[in-house]
Amino acid sequence: MQYVIPAWELPSIPVIGTSERFPVRHIYCVGRNYAEHAKEMGGDATKEPPFFFMKPADSIVPVVPPDVGRVPYPMATKNFHHELELVVAIGRSGVRFSPADAQALVYGYAVGLDMTRRDLQADMREKKRPWDIGKSFANAAPIAPIHPASATGTLSRGEIVLEVNGQPRQRGDLADMVWDVPDMLAFLSQLYRLEPGDLIFTGTPAGVGPVVVGDRLNGRIAGLTSLAIEIVSAES
Ligand code: MN
Repeated sequence: MQYVIPAWELPSIPVIGTSERFPVRHIYCVGRNYAEHAKEMGGDATKEPPFFFMKPADSIVPVVPPDVGRVPYPMATKNFHHELELVVAIGRSGVRFSPADAQALVYGYAVGLDMTRRDLQADMREKKRPWDIGKSFANAAPIAPIHPASATGTLSRGEIVLEVNGQPRQRGDLADMVWDVPDMLAFLSQLYRLEPGDLIFTGTPAGVGPVVVGDRLNGRIAGLTSLAIEIVSAES
């Protein structure tokens, strides 16, 4: 294939137990999927269907322990927030499927961070404009290696914890999701054909908050590889 400008590398994520990688196609994210987080954002998720937004595939920052991922403090914000999330990786194509059929599409799971320019998101929300500038930007989606579901089984419960500089900030359990993974995938498949390579960030528990340059974040979910990042200055 000849391109008129140099082509870039396909974004991809290491898979535990193999030298092969998972190529990333689309990144879908679910909003307000833990009741306590919905409350802290000023809403009530329990009565609403799930809603979705997207990040660009090349916003991923793959991090393999013992490495600590370097996430530059992004431009245009003064309120850069962490949202620790279970990420579901899709391995098969499917559209308009039922929750009962959803698990067959799941390739695996990873620990991810839905990094957010909260001030821009809040401003857009207030003006009833799209959230994109709050959620979609370079390095907005740090992610640890993927664990195949063939090894983990279906993940529907388990502790999810984020520490910043060793202090707990977010804590919850996957079982506390308002819309569990099969339900949210079934909902999403009414809007889009899910494709191999798609990632779904499944929402964050309560305790989101700001980070600054020099902060060390450590996110973990029971049974998965932990994710460690440091916020570095944009110039470095
Ligand atoms: Mn989120």
